[in-house]
Formats: sequence, structure tokens, C-alpha cells
Amino acid sequence: MIEAEGLTKFYGPRGAIRDVSFEIDKGEVVGFLGPNGAGKSTTIRILTCYMPPSSGTARVDGLDIMEESLRIRQKIGYLPETVPLYNELTVSRFLRFAAGAKGVEAKRMSSEVSRVTSACGLEKVAGRMIGHLSKGFRQRVGLAQALLNNPSVLILDEPTIGLDPSQIIEIRRIIEELSQDRTILLSSHILPEVAQLCRRVIIINKGEIVATDSPENLTSQLQKTSTIVLEVSGPSAEFAQAVENMDAIQKVSVVSLSGTSKFTIETDPSMDMRSDIAALAMQKGCGLLELRTMQLSLEDIFMQLVTEESTPQGGES
Ligand code: ADP
Repeated sequence: MIEAEGLTKFYGPRGAIRDVSFEIDKGEVVGFLGPNGAGKSTTIRILTCYMPPSSGTARVDGLDIMEESLRIRQKIGYLPETVPLYNELTVSRFLRFAAGAKGVEAKRMSSEVSRVTSACGLEKVAGRMIGHLSKGFRQRVGLAQALLNNPSVLILDEPTIGLDPSQIIEIRRIIEELSQDRTILLSSHILPEVAQLCRRVIIINKGEIVATDSPENLTSQLQKTSTIVLEVSGPSAEFAQAVENMDAIQKVSVVSLSGTSKFTIETDPSMDMRSDIAALAMQKGCGLLELRTMQLSLEDIFMQLVTEESTPQGGES
């Protein structure tokens, strides 16, 4: 349903995304996860035909983004990170206006506006001015406009950003309902949100795709190795060689700094190799300065990415 092939985008000389490729099948609900500045909005703006890539191609339902942007925009419901709303209009006036702009015919206008109003729980505020609504309701209005014309593809860019916890629960509930019969790409910097709503996740970091899989598979993949971090003093070449030759050792990398060497050792997670490695260090005449295991989970990896550029929402859930 969505195919991105080698998408690259430069803003002036600055690269925002590089060689981004992925496929999303019809009916899939896929999370697009990455810290702020990773390139999620850039990729989404390209897929929704709001700007062209510097290179690469993409198709939505078989239509090329460069050649059939108008038809693609009719197929996609897009909730941008910052929804352009008209504060001086009432919710129902705004939705009628948006429906007109999306080509909804006059005779279907009322039924279409009431359909999206009820899908997003906006009945009680339909007559209120958008400028007087809470952020959570404004976001629901954004979601409602994305649902006009009943698009088969929904692209939601950080749909819960800036909302309080109860508003977040409400928006997630609406998205969960919408996911029953649509293809959805949902961008977020919050792992639990994506894990809750999506069966597959694409992780982007610094403009590049770094992983694509189900949340469960990504977690178990990362747990296929366990990592031991070790620092020794003294000559360590012989020790390094001996570690590499041990059973259950999958990979050894060494960084040597004035008189000490830092090892990162990947081992079979079913075996605890710490005491064997410590004994070997002694035997080879090295001084043991540090020895610990580093257990990585998907959450750990993602939190590392997120905390590089944290936002007030970064600690949510
Ligand atoms: P995300 O949506 O993951 O937060 P973005 O796609 O917004 O990431 O940004 C990716 C990179 O591109 C960032 O380094 C950002 O500063 C840069 N960027 C985004 N939009 C623009 C723009 N209009 N002009 C220049 N640089 C931009």
C-alpha cells in the first residue's frame, strides 16, 4: 500500500533523511519510531506529497508521489504534527470547510461531517469555536478532518504530542478503533505508544532506518546476545586472543587507551561468562578494573535515542 524506495532529502546542504526504504501492506498498522529530529516528519511530508524528495521514489496504492500527487492526497488522511485549524470557526463549520476542500460533494457533506464528528467523539463541541477548545479536542478535530472522505490510508504524525495523559488515552482509543479497517502509519517518539497500537515498527535514527520488525521480534532479536563490558590494565593482546577463543563468545571489540583496554564482549545470553572472563584476565596477567553486563532491550535502545534530544513529552507513559 505504501512503498518508499531510497528516499533522500536535503534541506539546503543539510541531509535530513538518507536512503529510506520500507513497505507497508494493505491493512497494516505500522509505527514510525524515532527521536525528535530523526526524519519522521520529513519522510511523512514526502509520502503525503507535501514536498518532493531530493532523490528516491515512493508509491501509495501503486500511484507515484511525483506523478499522481493529487490522487494520492485524496486517498490519504493526514494528521500533521501541527494541525492547521481556523480558530474563529466552529468545529462543524471547519469540518464542512475541510470537506469542501477535499472534494466531498454537497449532498454527502452533512452525513460525512457527522460521521467523522461521531468517530472522533466531537458531538458535544460541534458548535464551539475551535479557538476555545482544549488541545485534546483540537487534536480530535485534526483527526476528524483526516478522516473526511473515508481514506483507506491514514498517516498520523505524532498524534499525541503535547496532550495530557487522559487526552492521550482518548486519542489512542480512537486510533485503535480506526485501525480495524485501514492502513495506518503512525509516527511517534514514544515506544510504548507504538508497541500498544502497532504490529510492526520501523525505527529511524539520524535520517536512516535502523530496524524494522514487530516490537516482540525486535526485543527478542536484541536479546540474542548479552554484552559484557570489561576494562583491564596492562598488556592485553594475549588476553584478547584468549577471550576470542572461548566458547560462547560471539564478538569481541577492544579500545585501548594509555595503559588500559576497554572490551565489549558479546556472548550467548544463556551462559554467564563473567567469572570465566575474570579468571582468564588474572591468568593472563591483566588487572581487572571493571566487569559488568550490559543488558539491552528495545526500550533501552530507544530511550538512549530519545534522551539525546528530549522533549517534555519524552518521559510519558
Ligand atoms: P522528526 O519528525 O523525526 O522530528 P524532521 O523530519 O522534522 O524529524 O527533521 C529531520 C531533520 O531535518 C532535523 O535535523 C531537522 O532539524 C531538519 N529539518 C526539518 N525540517 C526542516 C526545514 N524545513 N528546513 C531545514 N531543516 C529541516
